[in-house]
Amino acid sequence: MVRVSRVHPDSIAAELGIEPGTELRSVNGREIADFLDWEFLTAEDELVIDARLPDGQDVVYEVERPEGETMGVDLEPPSVRRCANRCEFCFIEGLPKGLRKPLYIRDDDYRLSFAYGNFATLSNLKDRDIERILEYRLSPLYVSVHATPWEARKKLLNNPRVPNILEQLTRLTGGGIQFHGQMVIVPGLNDGDVLEQSLTDLWSFGEACLSVAMVPVGLTQFSHLYTGKPMDQAKALELLQISERWAKRAIHERGHAWVYGSDELYLLAGRDLPPVEHYGDLAQIENGVGAISALRDRVATHAGELPWIGPIRVGVVTGVSMAPLMPELLDRIAAVTGVEFTLLPTENSLFGPTTTTAGLLVGADIRRTLESAGDFDLALIPAECINGDGIFLDDDRFDRVREVVPFPVHPSYDFIDVLSEPERFLSRDAAIVAAR
Ligand code: SF4
Repeated sequence: MVRVSRVHPDSIAAELGIEPGTELRSVNGREIADFLDWEFLTAEDELVIDARLPDGQDVVYEVERPEGETMGVDLEPPSVRRCANRCEFCFIEGLPKGLRKPLYIRDDDYRLSFAYGNFATLSNLKDRDIERILEYRLSPLYVSVHATPWEARKKLLNNPRVPNILEQLTRLTGGGIQFHGQMVIVPGLNDGDVLEQSLTDLWSFGEACLSVAMVPVGLTQFSHLYTGKPMDQAKALELLQISERWAKRAIHERGHAWVYGSDELYLLAGRDLPPVEHYGDLAQIENGVGAISALRDRVATHAGELPWIGPIRVGVVTGVSMAPLMPELLDRIAAVTGVEFTLLPTENSLFGPTTTTAGLLVGADIRRTLESAGDFDLALIPAECINGDGIFLDDDRFDRVREVVPFPVHPSYDFIDVLSEPERFLSRDAAIVAAR
């Protein structure tokens, strides 16, 4: 059973009288266990839907669904499948105590892998799940492979019962499923021979393995389970050499790089990143692969379209690892807009100095930086560090930060998004001048 959270106006569901709170129980005689069943079973043109209205009344709807028209309901979020592993490098194990509860949920859910691109290890997959993936053609999936040799993977996932990923992937790809893979590299556990074997195995899946990301292990000061070696510059360089050797082969034989070092790996290695074209369709950008090159490309392409704003003082908050890359972007924007930027690299007090990513900065750090940095006409902070409800990882609220900082603060993904609309942060008269 799934429950309706919202009914779209003028939709089929609204016409039928389905209301928020209605339980959708079966479609064409098949029970509905979750959003996937609903999504796929209602793809038929003729539907018999068993439902229970919020007042307890059971109803059967007979529907002829016009082609291309959806039912028009949003469902309550599914209960998430939890992870059965205990990886030493798990970011959630590296969270400090006392944060809001949802942050500690270790999801490992093939349904979210298909629907939202969340990575799943597939280690909690039952036979019936595999059958479902094949029946509904849940493709592509995003799979945390980490290592294909079984013993190495058991160790990495800290789970002796983890299934053989090669057998799982063979079954899935045999049924037409494609996947993107990621490998979080833990020095001493899945680098060297294990890495070579894993890439060889993944390569053997041909076009079914769409891409592989190599991500360096990321630890916080609270990563209490970790017993592996630290990731250093020499190891990052070695990993990039391996990924580039495989990418060269892939470009030659398949026309795209196939295996990608994450942006963080390049930063750790002190190497410049490839141009955005290297990343093809940027399939793993959410995984930090190609995001910096995409940002550079966006600034290069759109900076020239920005209006002249004048010499206002803009503070730019960023993480320690991104700071060295910022001046080239900000100089380019300053040349067009006349804005005077001050870069404000900010350390992460919640996760510790080893966590240098801008997207993991917390409200307390941003507030501290802005309060002590001097006077600005505007401050830009990384939009990635605030969730959809306007909350930072430390539970601080963005509107609270705005209240205490004595100048306008805006979240920004790429500077262009905010600076292209000066009326968002300048007085009306100043904005009109800027627009001219
Ligand atoms: S699979 Fe590993 S890293 Fe992912 S949530 Fe589970 S324990 Fe954490």
